[in-house]
Amino acid sequence: TVESTVMAFSLLSDKREISLVWDVQLTDGDPSFRGDEERLNQLLYILLDNALKYNKPEGEIRLEVRKTPQELQIGVTDTGIGIPSEDLPHIFDRFYRVHKGRSRSSGGVGLGLAIAAWIVKAHGGRIRAESRVGEGTAVKVTLPRQ
Ligand code: ATP
Repeated sequence: TVESTVMAFSLLSDKREISLVWDVQLTDGDPSFRGDEERLNQLLYILLDNALKYNKPEGEIRLEVRKTPQELQIGVTDTGIGIPSEDLPHIFDRFYRVHKGRSRSSGGVGLGLAIAAWIVKAHGGRIRAESRVGEGTAVKVTLPRQ
């Protein structure tokens, strides 16, 4: 569930002194959402992991989850180093890494977002990122019901 992924994750962010702001609203009277729970947890984990890895000391991660009658919306926003606009169109490509030195030290190979995009596509959804260098990044996912 979203809850267990976020709980596990908050332990990690505590260690890095990064605060996790959890704004999850899942109650809209109709809880039915069809999806592969394991994959959706993996998706959430990839986005939170990046928000942690590329954050600044004492930064913040905001997780927003909303349900509407038509879709599930997930937003992960960080206060990290950001992504230059010329790199932004490529971050969902396999093995594409913007911050190479940092990625290597934290074990990244540039697959996380490619997997995230694949999971979103498999659910018929959309994923996009907005970013400002030095200010932070927001990744937004929309998944249709059914
Ligand atoms: P891994 O395969 O372990 O996920 P990774 O983090 O390098 O490694 P991706 O998750 O695919 O790979 O991300 C691709 C690149 O996009 C990263 O190397 C990083 O440079 C950049 N990036 C991704 N998320 C963020 C973020 N929240 N803030 C800044 N840069 C990011």
